[in-house]
Amino acid sequence: GDEGLIEGTSFVDDEQQAQAKAVGVIAVVGRPNVGKSTLVNRILGRRAAVVEDTPGVTRDRVSYDAEWAGTDFKLVDTGGWEADVEGIDSAIASQAQIAVDLADAVIFVVDGQVGLTDTDERIVRLLRSSGKPVTVAVNKADDQNAEYAASEFWKLGLGEPYPISAMHGRGVGDLLDAAIDSLKKAERTSGFLTPSGLRRVALVGRPNVGKSSLLNKLSRSDRSVVSDIAGTTRDPVDEIVDIDGKDYLFIDTAGIKRRQHKLSGAEYYSSLRTQAAIERSELALVLFDASQPISDQDLKVMSTAVDAGRAIVLVFNKWDLMDDFDRQRMERLWKTEFERVTWAQRVNLSAKTGWHTNRLSRAMTQALESWDKRIPTGKLNSFLGRIQAAHPHPLRGGKQPRILFATQASTRPPRFVVFATGFIEHGYRRFLERQLREEFGFEGTPIQISVNIRE
Ligand code: GDP
Ligand code: GDP
Repeated sequence: GDEGLIEGTSFVDDEQQAQAKAVGVIAVVGRPNVGKSTLVNRILGRRAAVVEDTPGVTRDRVSYDAEWAGTDFKLVDTGGWEADVEGIDSAIASQAQIAVDLADAVIFVVDGQVGLTDTDERIVRLLRSSGKPVTVAVNKADDQNAEYAASEFWKLGLGEPYPISAMHGRGVGDLLDAAIDSLKKAERTSGFLTPSGLRRVALVGRPNVGKSSLLNKLSRSDRSVVSDIAGTTRDPVDEIVDIDGKDYLFIDTAGIKRRQHKLSGAEYYSSLRTQAAIERSELALVLFDASQPISDQDLKVMSTAVDAGRAIVLVFNKWDLMDDFDRQRMERLWKTEFERVTWAQRVNLSAKTGWHTNRLSRAMTQALESWDKRIPTGKLNSFLGRIQAAHPHPLRGGKQPRILFATQASTRPPRFVVFATGFIEHGYRRFLERQLREEFGFEGTPIQISVNIRE
């Protein structure tokens, strides 16, 4: 069986691998208790979304890979976002706003048994101003009579209401047909906000590290608007930014520019946005304010990107404020707090003055190349043969676990599967990772190694 990983690397299953592709995003929004999570589970066809649900505890995952009638898409589930009980109404609106910003199309769920509420109407206003295509699901229509009653929801002005029973599956197929249809139309208009060929970059970091300053510095005035859908006035969500003559797609720049820092729960929402941006990205530019102590929140953002298996560039901003003492402090931190990511490139710069911003391009290119890199099986195995001959695994209970064979199962990030005759010790796994990096590079990307024991 698969017995795990080298510490400091992370495991990304095949499902997450697929997220590197550009696919459309459908967000499921609506008041609490209308049945969003039940619907998401129904669509995913498994228990993934809500199983480990504990009241008051929010789920980690923001989006899931889904498929309907041959179309792959991402499903953003807001059902687990009910963390902030104070100011519940505005919290719901914030959640819906984030979900809608992130999505290409929306499924708006209402409760057919309860009917329309003020909160529903508030969400409707937000949906209208977003300009995104919306499909209305009237849930809890468990029988024929309830289906007829759903016609009341025509008055929302969002088109045909689809009566469904998320619980029993009734009507969900028709709803999905309609939602996928609207997604495909959105694709034709906006290309899922993701022009092909551009590498997708998430600019992340806790509030005030300088994300919007850096974005402004990099994009100056020649910023291109990606989601410029005629007739809408909403903020562009993603933007093309030219860095040293090369275009990148920066994800959720609307979220970077929208300053909600003073709102209660702002940290929670900014962490949701961060996660979602990372999921849609290929590379994460993780920003730190070098002039300040590195906080847990800083490290959490970094870990989110590493655990998601994205290419990484670490950016230490506000270098213009640093004196000798600060610089020494930073070097010490680099050896302690950043031990997990010593393979990442680090760029010290100042978003304010523009100092060293020209160094980003090289680091980003390098990280993405590593992320994409594939080592031929022959090369990999002759390398493993050499290092095993020079440094065999220590004896365990009189036996010598041996690596029989290894292969790179996937790229983006590189993932290796090692077949061995017995348990491979922690220390030896770390040694393997270091050797792999030394031999093949992989600067700027996490690599994943899983061990498969062949008795
Ligand atoms: P969320 O807060 O919007 O994610 O809602 P949940 O999915 O947690 O569902 C809220 C409640 O509504 C749960 O008790 C569900 O069992 C129930 N529910 C969900 N879908 C249906 C449905 O189609 N019919 C009925 N009768 N109840 C449902
Ligand atoms: P965000 O919340 O991460 O988007 O951070 P902002 O870009 O809004 O920056 C937060 C504050 O830090 C603002 O007052 C910026 O002017 C300041 N700032 C950003 N980058 C730099 C920098 O490189 N040097 C200095 N001295 N200040 C900076």
